[in-house]
Amino acid sequence: MVAEFPGKPVTRFAPSPTGYLHLGHVAHMLYVWGVAGLVRGGVLLRIEDHDRQRCRPEYEAALLEDMQWLGFRPANTLSPEGSDYRQSDCGSAYEAMLRNLSREHHVYGCRCSRKDLAGDAPPGHDGERAYSGRCRTAGHAATQPHGIRIAWDPSAAPESFHDALLGAQCQRPERQCGDLLLRDRVGNWTYQFAVTADDFRHGVNLVVRGSDLLGSTGRQIRLARMMGRANRPVFVHHPLVRSAGGEKLSKRRRPEAVRVLREAGMAPQAVLGLAARAIGLAATAQEIAAVDAAQLVSRRHPGIFRSL
Ligand code: GLU
Repeated sequence: MVAEFPGKPVTRFAPSPTGYLHLGHVAHMLYVWGVAGLVRGGVLLRIEDHDRQRCRPEYEAALLEDMQWLGFRPANTLSPEGSDYRQSDCGSAYEAMLRNLSREHHVYGCRCSRKDLAGDAPPGHDGERAYSGRCRTAGHAATQPHGIRIAWDPSAAPESFHDALLGAQCQRPERQCGDLLLRDRVGNWTYQFAVTADDFRHGVNLVVRGSDLLGSTGRQIRLARMMGRANRPVFVHHPLVRSAGGEKLSKRRRPEAVRVLREAGMAPQAVLGLAARAIGLAATAQEIAAVDAAQLVSRRHPGIFRSL
């Protein structure tokens, strides 16, 4: 059951250690490992702890333990002393990429606070406001206490890409978010910068993630190209697990945390079954009992890579 895929597939599971693993993560992991299994690809584990105020080392340790308990094995290991796969350890790699970017593109210091942005373009359907570019020519230093943005090329074409599940997409980052923030005023690298830098550095050519991140993809494709990336990954944006009320599962809702289910005596296979059912990868008791991620994904999405 090997699907055709251009090149040796490398994907990643990239959690932010801001809480315990919950059923939404488990369902996401079924997609990541399931799609990887379909194309005989490897899964890198990357700790996205770029937001230093919200991430905690004990959540990273718990995450590794829960992953192992569930049976998800990444292709890499992470040393607690320092790793190229933990964003908080990658500051100098990011500095170097930022320097390279500023050689060829307009990277500038931005003094605007979140409050200053309130008057910018009205939020789009995802609640985001496009930055007006008011600091673009102000000449602020691109160092703290200022944020750092990159100016989009005003003549850039819209970003068109194909999602393996959602089909043809077309996005205009300059309208969605305006000039992209690369580092914030506190000195944190932003998700958009770190994820794009890492997918490039780590040779990730298959991105499997929830459809809540679909709106970020065009800007990441554009930023990667500006960084010098010649090819783009294949994208798979999968459905999300919703709670009974319809909202996205949050890490803070204790009842869905893997450790709570585990402490209540549930077996790993039962937790996987629960997650598979919650995300629509399995329906019958038989399917749930024999959770094989690749099989579940191929049954739910036959011919997933046929259109690439
Ligand atoms: N770190 C992100 C999250 O936990 C995932 C990033 C991605 O897959 O692009 O939601």
